[in-house]
Amino acid sequence: MRRFLATILCLPFLLIPTRAAGGQKYVALTFDDGPSGRYTRQLLDGLQERGVKATFLLCGYRIAQYPDITQRIVEEGHEIGFHGYSHKSMQGMSRRDIAQELSDTQALLPAGCHPVFFRPPGGCCSDPVQQVAEVRGLAILNWSVDPRDWATQDTAAIERAVLRNIHDGDIVLLHDMTTSSVQAALDIVDALLEQEYEPVTVWELARLRGASIRAGRTYTKFPPA
Ligand SMILES: [Zn+2]
Repeated sequence: MRRFLATILCLPFLLIPTRAAGGQKYVALTFDDGPSGRYTRQLLDGLQERGVKATFLLCGYRIAQYPDITQRIVEEGHEIGFHGYSHKSMQGMSRRDIAQELSDTQALLPAGCHPVFFRPPGGCCSDPVQQVAEVRGLAILNWSVDPRDWATQDTAAIERAVLRNIHDGDIVLLHDMTTSSVQAALDIVDALLEQEYEPVTVWELARLRGASIRAGRTYTKFPPA
């Protein structure tokens, strides 16, 4: 049953436009570069305690190191997206090499898991990146709030940078690679819940906003209409 459920949750390709409940505020937290070992575990534990789902943009070489954590991300109802295999910049990379990065990553994902979103490392978007995404049925995912958590590694500064700039429908860029980021992420979730935001996956945010996700298009946020 768990495997069946995981398969369903990992196949969010069909968007059914719905109207969001009146006035409800949503936000999507996204985590790049993982899975890492204990940091991703801490984050998953904290999200589970709070009943919150997030989106994880995974690197293939890290999925190879932590297949059990990748499986847990899927089983607990979070969304998985691509972040390349090697985490090398795709600026200047050929279509063939970009496609190979995606294929090598897809091959390591749990059976039935087919991501909708692709975030190139560093957020680069060249013509080849856009073309490969379109051919493979992937949308490119950027973000609207970036606290530069990887650079500051300062929990309080990360929290301030997010909470001062957050708006309904924003997509927040974080990394589950350090204690400061994970602690900040969980504190941010608590503050957002207090402010009556509902944190959801990117796919769920798009669905709630009635957005049609198109292959090859770039998305940064899903504000209310
Ligand atoms: Zn990255």
